Amino acid sequence: MEYASDQITIYRFCPFNCRYCWAWRLPLYAKRIKRGKYNPVVEARKYLNVKKRKIIVVSFTSDPYPPIERENKLTRKVLEVLSKAKQHKVMILTKNPILALRDADLMLEHGDMWLGTTLISLNENMYEPNAPHPLDRFDALVKAKKLGIPTWISIEPIIPEVTYPELIVYCTEKYVDYYVLGALNYAKKLLGIEREELRKWYYVHVHRAIRLLNKLEKRYYIKSELDPFLGGRYER
Ligand code: SF4
Repeated sequence: MEYASDQITIYRFCPFNCRYCWAWRLPLYAKRIKRGKYNPVVEARKYLNVKKRKIIVVSFTSDPYPPIERENKLTRKVLEVLSKAKQHKVMILTKNPILALRDADLMLEHGDMWLGTTLISLNENMYEPNAPHPLDRFDALVKAKKLGIPTWISIEPIIPEVTYPELIVYCTEKYVDYYVLGALNYAKKLLGIEREELRKWYYVHVHRAIRLLNKLEKRYYIKSELDPFLGGRYER
C-alpha cells in the first residue's frame, strides 16, 4: 500500500463491483482473497500489544462497509478493538462513508482514526455501478470533518477522460486532510486503455494536482506506480 504499513481485510466479497477493480476482476487475486481464512477481529486484537507504531488500513482488497455491515457489524467490532490501540494510526477506506459515520464514536475515541473514501470523479460514473454517489461520499467526509475526525481521499485509479485529480482536490480541500493519488493498474486488461494514453493524461493532470496540493500546503502521497508517467520520482 506504500502509505501504510499494515492492513486488515474484513469481508471476503465486495458488492460494489467497480469496473477497474483488479482485486476482484482478476481471478487469481479474487481466489486469493476468498481463500483467506482469518478472523479480522482476532487480527485486530494482535495490534493491542504491538508497541511500534503502525499505520493500519481498513480495508484494502474489499470494502469494509458493504450494506450487510449494517446488520453484521463486523467492521464495527474490528474498530472497537482498534479504538483501544491508540499507539497506531488507523485509516478507514470505503466507498460507503455514509454508513461508516455510524462508527464516528469509535473514530473520535481513538483520536487518530481517519475516515477516507475513494473518488475517481465527482460525477456519477459507469465505473462504480453499485457504489454510493461520489457527492454522497464527499458529503459524509464533510460531516466527519465537522465532527473532528481527520479525513482523506484516495484518488485512485486515475482514469483518462474521467478523473481530473486537480478538480477533485480543488472541490474538496476544505474538508480533506490528506490525499493519495494512484494509477490505473492493469489498464489494458481491465479497461482496454493503452499505456501511452495513461502517460499523456497523468503527465498533465497529476502534475496539476501536485502543484495545487503544494500551493494549498496539503499532505499527500503520490504512489510510486505514477513515477514512470511523471518524468521523475517524488519525495515520499
Ligand atoms: S469498492 Fe474497492 S474492493 Fe470493492 S469492487 Fe470497488 S475497488 Fe474493488
